[in-house]
Amino acid sequence: MIIGIDIGGTKISAALMNDNHIVEQRSAASPIHDDLSQLLPTIAHLLTGWTGQANGIAVGCTGLVSDAEVRFMSVGADKVLPLKSLLFEMFSLPVLILNDAWAAAWGEHCLGNHTPEDTLVYVTISTGISGGIIQNGRLLTSRHGFSAHLGHLTVTRNHDNNMLCVCDRWNCVEAVASGNAIGCRASELLSQNISCNEVFECLDSQPKLVVLIEDCAKAVAEMIANIKAVTGTELIVLGGSVGLNKIFRSKIELALAKLPEVYAVKLAMPALGRDADIIGAALFAIQNNFSKKSHD
Ligand SMILES: [Zn+2]
Repeated sequence: MIIGIDIGGTKISAALMNDNHIVEQRSAASPIHDDLSQLLPTIAHLLTGWTGQANGIAVGCTGLVSDAEVRFMSVGADKVLPLKSLLFEMFSLPVLILNDAWAAAWGEHCLGNHTPEDTLVYVTISTGISGGIIQNGRLLTSRHGFSAHLGHLTVTRNHDNNMLCVCDRWNCVEAVASGNAIGCRASELLSQNISCNEVFECLDSQPKLVVLIEDCAKAVAEMIANIKAVTGTELIVLGGSVGLNKIFRSKIELALAKLPEVYAVKLAMPALGRDADIIGAALFAIQNNFSKKSHD
């Protein structure tokens, strides 16, 4: 048995797994925004009764994830934890830790039945934008964890329409077209608080919001073109609550169709659903015997 843990900004999910099959699953609200000191107690509570049955722990975690530490970049201020060593000390089990989108990318690569299968890029658009890259059958990782953070690719803006990203650079696609950005930009446009979900619900009555969504879709298409130029991928697996929105997806497809032929990619649906992070992390841990040294 193996324990999989998915640490996100709103939820922590844990699963007892037999290979990549989930036997039992539990979840709790994530404390990382409010009180990071509660992260380990929350995980310990979720894993109650499981650790005696498990050979190791596979973690998919939001943020800049390396063996040395996790930096929770998207939740503000410098929140840093040496999470891998803390989990090892607490449970005395081998621990493998990956960025959550890297883990989902690995899961899609191994179990998604996507074609072509040796190179694919997984992009998730929800509150933020992140990703994972499989290049020639290998997961792209890096020593300090700042790789495949596709939300921090910059996109073209008009001079009077620049947007500052949480990474402190201007016009990252996350600052322009993430769920959070869509909600903020729409609220500013309408001078009232409106969430990203509500934006998509009232497009019919708000032409200004249609223009906004088309601008965001164009930014996502530009990000995808940049990804194509670096990786040569023919396949983008687009997930996340905003990435799965049918209207947004169709606008992204339209924007992609306007790009020169050399940037053509196939946009695919994710196959694994909400457990992709856990399943991908567990698979990667099993296949690599809880060591990702050869991939760094
Ligand atoms: Zn950024």
